[in-house]
Amino acid sequence: MTPESLIEPPPLNRLGCPPSTARTRLKPAKSPVDFWHAPTVIAENNFVYKSLSNWAFNVAVGCSHACRFCYVPSAATIKQGAKLAEYGIKDPDAEWGDYVLLRPWEEQKFLASLRSAENTPPKQLKPDGNRAVIYCSTTDPYQVIHHPDAARQRELAEHARFLVRRSLELIREQSTLNVRILTRSPLARADFDLFKSFGKRLVFGMSLPTLRNDLAKVYEPKAPAPSQRLAALRAAKEAGLHVFVALAPTYPECDEADLRATLTAVAELEPITIFHEPINIRAENVARIEAQGAAMGVRLRTEVFATRESWQDYAVNALHTVSELARELGIENHLHLWPDKSLGSQSLADRMPNPQKYLKRLEHWWRRVSEWPK
Ligand code: SF4
Repeated sequence: MTPESLIEPPPLNRLGCPPSTARTRLKPAKSPVDFWHAPTVIAENNFVYKSLSNWAFNVAVGCSHACRFCYVPSAATIKQGAKLAEYGIKDPDAEWGDYVLLRPWEEQKFLASLRSAENTPPKQLKPDGNRAVIYCSTTDPYQVIHHPDAARQRELAEHARFLVRRSLELIREQSTLNVRILTRSPLARADFDLFKSFGKRLVFGMSLPTLRNDLAKVYEPKAPAPSQRLAALRAAKEAGLHVFVALAPTYPECDEADLRATLTAVAELEPITIFHEPINIRAENVARIEAQGAAMGVRLRTEVFATRESWQDYAVNALHTVSELARELGIENHLHLWPDKSLGSQSLADRMPNPQKYLKRLEHWWRRVSEWPK
């Protein structure tokens, strides 16, 4: 894959739309990279303590970036097991990264969901959502679609782009909702013009856990390299977008020097918010990461996943290090840590020098509302 293929957007026709068959297809071919049966709508999300949005817009079931730590296959996609089997997917968790099923477009259904979100009384909304729709919560809004048939691949890529652009246009024109774009892909650069037209209603961010391309390749094997993401973030800043960054999740190999390098690069972007969370990986994925690391000659610290205590020690230490570095770099007011709920256990608190202060600090991060441009 060339860098050019990553940033070259698929063409739209003169109406700004891809071929119409892609938008309304209801009978998907049974292939792991194809069309899903249910159309995409704006739906309430299930984030806890993230302060990312109130709603989510997801363009697909599955994600070609194949991140090893991704919570989506175990938490959400696995519930679709019976339906996914019809597409030849036997194990939605183990095959994560191999399937991308784009949702069809049904404009009336989308508009109904948009109206429902727009008319939700503020009192019914979680206060940390900033009345925003996130693109996306269970997939990436900008991913390269791989399909053995070139024509089908083009059709799918056009459809993916159409879903994002058409829905954004409708949100901009027919609602007062905010939008948060969160991606790992520089393909988003093709839509900066559209993002810009939202003014303060849209924030653009990327996940950038490290600047080390080799490390990212182990944990996010099919996602674009961190160097490309940093370049895209710089371009976004230059384009006048409101930028945020998610150092999420950072890895055990991200030592102080690595975190300092990443945060220094991030600070130059003057992001409105810098989210951070340490990786929390399920046991079954550790072997896969070890195999990938060994194949690439990258030394890993997977011993931190051996026990609950060793992971907690690692996580608390990573959060503390990032916090200290943010202070050192003068960006602490923009830092938004995401400590896992399990870090609030009394047994862990009791291991801290000042348990009460520790728990109070966690509470602060869990209640924090992320910044929105004024
Ligand atoms: S980009 Fe996001 S949704 Fe896709 S695999 Fe990675 S963590 Fe999961």
